[in-house]
Parts: sequence; C-alpha cells; structure tokens
Amino acid sequence: MRTLRMGMRGTDVMEIQSLLSILGYYKGALDRIFGSQMRNAVIAFQRNFGLTADGVIGPATYKVMEKYLLGYDTYVIKPGDTFYKISQRYFTSLPRILAANPNLDPTRLQIGQQIIIPYGIDVVQTNIDYTYEIMERDIRGLQVRYPFLQVGVAGKSVLGKNLYYIRLGNGTNEVFYNAAHHSLEWITAPLLMKYLENFAKAYVDGTNIKGYNPRDIFSRSSIYIMPMVNPDGVNLVLDGLSRDNPYYSQLIRWNNGSTSFGRNWQANIKGVDLNHNYNALFNEYKEVAASMGITGPSPSRYPGPSPESEPESKAVADFTRSHNFRLVLAYHSQGEVIYWNFQNMAPPEARQIGQQFARASGYILDVPTGAASYSGYKDWFIQQYRRPGYTIEVGRGTNPLPISQFPQIYRDNEEILLLAAIV
Ligand SMILES: [Zn+2]
Repeated sequence: MRTLRMGMRGTDVMEIQSLLSILGYYKGALDRIFGSQMRNAVIAFQRNFGLTADGVIGPATYKVMEKYLLGYDTYVIKPGDTFYKISQRYFTSLPRILAANPNLDPTRLQIGQQIIIPYGIDVVQTNIDYTYEIMERDIRGLQVRYPFLQVGVAGKSVLGKNLYYIRLGNGTNEVFYNAAHHSLEWITAPLLMKYLENFAKAYVDGTNIKGYNPRDIFSRSSIYIMPMVNPDGVNLVLDGLSRDNPYYSQLIRWNNGSTSFGRNWQANIKGVDLNHNYNALFNEYKEVAASMGITGPSPSRYPGPSPESEPESKAVADFTRSHNFRLVLAYHSQGEVIYWNFQNMAPPEARQIGQQFARASGYILDVPTGAASYSGYKDWFIQQYRRPGYTIEVGRGTNPLPISQFPQIYRDNEEILLLAAIV
C-alpha cells in the first residue's frame, strides 16, 4: 500500500473513500480523488483511533483501516467477557463470531485467549472500481470470517497474479461460475464476490435467499467461483498503464499508439482475447478475425497463436478438466442476454434450464450466431462435455458499465446463481 495524501488519485483512494463513508466519516463523492473533504475525514478517523492526526494515510493509519477492509479484528479475552458482550461491542452477532471461531466453546472462554471478531459491516464493497488487489483482500477477509470457504489458486496470470477460486459447499454436484474474462467487464467480479459473501452470511445465519436454503445447497453441491479470470487486464483498465509494466511499449503499440486503455481494452496483458482462446472452432474464428484485420495482439478479438496459448485460459481449461462440472456459467457484460448453445452440441435440457434462468433474471435466452462467437469458454465446455454451459451478459449500455448498475445486476442474477447449483 502506497502512502496516500491529499491530491492523489486512484482506485486505492476510492476504496478508502468508500470505507470512510461506511464508517460515517466521509460524506463526499467516491471520485478517486483525495481532496480536502477526504483529508478531514481521515483526520477525524485518526483522532478517534488515537493516531497522529495528520490527514495522511501512512502505515500506522492504514493498519487500522485494513482491519475494517478485511472485516475482522483479533481480540484477547479479558476477565468478565462473554460472547454476547463482545458481539454487542462490535455490532456483530453470536452466530457470526462462532462461525469465525469454529473450534471455540462459547461456554468456556479462557482469559488471554485470542479470537476472531467479524465486524458488523460487509467485506465486499460494490460501489467502487474493483481491482485485483481489492478482490484479493476481500477473499482473505471472507476466508477468516467464514472458514468453511475453501480458497485455492488455479494458476497465474501473465504478470504473475493469482487466479483465485473459492469453493462453496461440499456436495458432489460440482458447478463452476467464472467472471471477467474481458477486462472492461470487471463488474462481473464483484457480482460473484457479493454472491459469495451473501451466501456465506445466510449459511451462518440460517436464513433463506429468495426461497433457497443455502445449507441445503451447501450439502448437495460444490460451487466453484473464479471471480477474475483476467486480473492483468482488469487492473490495466482501472489503474492505467504503469511505467514498470514489462509490456509497456508493446501495449501502446497494440493499442494503436494510445496510452489510454480504460474504454477499449478487453484482452489480457499480451493482447489476446481470452474468450476467443479456447479450442472450439478456433481456426475458423481465427480466419474471421483475420478478415476483420485482426492478425496480432490487439485491444479485443485477437484469439492468440493457438488454443490455450495464454496462462489464464489454460488455467481455466485445466481447472475444468480436473473437475466434473455438471454446469458452468461464464459472466460477461453487457446486453441482458443468456447464450446457451454451441453448434447444436448442448444437451436437450440446456434450453429448458436456460429458460428457467431467463425467467429468474428477466434476461433474454438466445443462441449466438456466426463465427464471431466461436472459441469462447462456454463453447469449448459444451463441445467437450455436452453439458449445460452459459455465457451470461449482464447489464445494459456501453462497457465498462458504470458501477451504479451493480444493484440491478445483482438483483437480476442472484436467483440464477442459486438455481444453477441445484438444477
Ligand atoms: Zn465479454
């Protein structure tokens, strides 16, 4: 974490703006700019926590803020403490504390014992630009709050970022949800992260979501979630091109001389469109791309030299091969459309399941037409396994969709994400 002070800009500034706003210190816009209103909020925060009130977010201040970003504190039991008293003090609930400390006996608290206290606030913020670093911290925080989540790494991106997956449930029915193959479509990453958090919360609280019982789903199914297939591309779009990027000059060349990537870059950091890098009519697509003048690295639609040439798509395909997925969802934006078939290879039930998804979301069920839609992940999955696979295009407008669309997108897709695990 870099030291943040007035005048600075960035996604890291925006994340702190949102945190200070949740904690009641900041009432200004989440505009990525560290202005005087934010400085005053930081000073108030520092005073409240006994920190040097200089309005600068250095290591000491960040250390306190980070606990809230992660969503939990570690606490040492003192004489007279009870779980109930502690939960009142932290504005949290008993079931949430017990979930975070599965091996503790609440009737036998030991003085001096260290326990995890989840704060009453959510971990996943859905009103900010969602970079890889934010996702990574959210995964760390959720894993501590909900130790029944199993976190793993399916591979590395070109720039060495982890391709995280989270397993929700321990049932035999395996399904796979992934998001953000395309950089500009990063809004799909917080969609899956928020679903994960809400599912875990309801599981702990013993409540239903839209009539679905999370504990029932948890025991029947294993939902594997890979929220960000293309972290290098997402960060390029959200943070801009950094001088120390090893592909710095090539990226500018591939971007037709422009240093601005925020409105057009869909590919990975090597200019390969990951959702055209799968082995499903790959060569046919490659010819189509060439006829459109795309023969090398480019902001979008270049399929790469060969199927799975990129570490990100290779990791997703390997991950798929090493499981027995009954169904997959690949999240994209935009269009409010669900694509369900590939070359008539989908099983008969795939259309009927797609119709259920369409009813649950209000989206249109459709079949992609023409070669421009070849060599995507769901195409490859359907071709290889003849099982239900879907590309879901969330939201409406021009990519990147504004984060203000998040609440609507979440409402539309929550039931699909529940249904897909048991259908
Ligand atoms: Zn896409």
